Amino acid sequence: MQILDGKIASKAVKDQLKLQTDKLIEEGKRPPHLVAILVGSNGASETYVASKVKTCAEVGYQSTLIRFEESIEERILLDKIEQLNNDNEIDGILVQLPLPKQINESKIINAVHPSKDVDGFNQVSVGRLVQGLPTFVPATPFGIMLMLEHYKLETKGKHAVVIGRSNIVGRPMSILLSSNLYYGNCTVTLCHSHTANLNELCLQADILVAALGKPGYIKADMVKEGAIILDVGITRVDDPSTNKGYVIMGDVDFKSVAEKASAISPVPGGVGPMTIAGLMKNTMEAYLRKV
Ligand code: NAD
Repeated sequence: MQILDGKIASKAVKDQLKLQTDKLIEEGKRPPHLVAILVGSNGASETYVASKVKTCAEVGYQSTLIRFEESIEERILLDKIEQLNNDNEIDGILVQLPLPKQINESKIINAVHPSKDVDGFNQVSVGRLVQGLPTFVPATPFGIMLMLEHYKLETKGKHAVVIGRSNIVGRPMSILLSSNLYYGNCTVTLCHSHTANLNELCLQADILVAALGKPGYIKADMVKEGAIILDVGITRVDDPSTNKGYVIMGDVDFKSVAEKASAISPVPGGVGPMTIAGLMKNTMEAYLRKV
């Protein structure tokens, strides 16, 4: 059984990006520049944004974090995005989700210019993904594809079952795995909260992507012998015995499932680091498309 170690696989991606950035600087060019917008002070969002900013520094990118109060008006946020869209020194813009209730998330996502949409969430990026055109792929599914590539896990002709149909993980994942790509060409089943026979379908999966947000939901009796398991789930579960007062859990019951799987990504240290690697690759791509 192989552990799909996201720290190792993401390091390989980041090392390569750092070399690319160093070369740009040697040539007298500026490095890629990512702007992150954080509204309010949600604990998980703070952690995610901090680690994106830290990773930018690791690969030599410039990053700017723009913070707004929880009570911000939608118009102010839209004006800021417009200003960033028009700034030639900025390559990627990401707005950390979720946003407060008074703000229309879809309007904000679609306000980011498609050439700077490094999260790959806006309608143009999604349309291009569906049509198999070059685009920014949402960072988590992109990261999973990079993980498959790093560990050279053949996907062609396999049955992939994706659990979860969100716009940021499950749906784009299902599109990528079914696309005519080297690490694609799967037959894909997309499951969600109304899927009637989830256990049966999971048992048919050569590749199982769990992105439902229910800690430990996937047990060994739902998994086929030799399956490849990609655990996307990240849930904070209260644990007063730890310093933080919580532990991070994936959607897969790692211990029991690992005994049946041929390869499995742990949580933490699996898909999470790959997501940031995906974002960094998208930011470099946004930069390169400009020059
Ligand atoms: P979401 O809540 O938007 O979507 C969950 C999906 O799971 C829904 O489509 C729902 O239909 C489906 N679902 C829920 N219960 C189900 C059940 N019992 N059976 C079948 N389907 C079920 O969540 P999301 O934003 O897609 O995130 C999913 C998980 O992945 C969360 O734990 C989230 O924290 C995590 N996540 C991790 C990363 C990462 O970098 N590793 C990135 C994004 C999200």
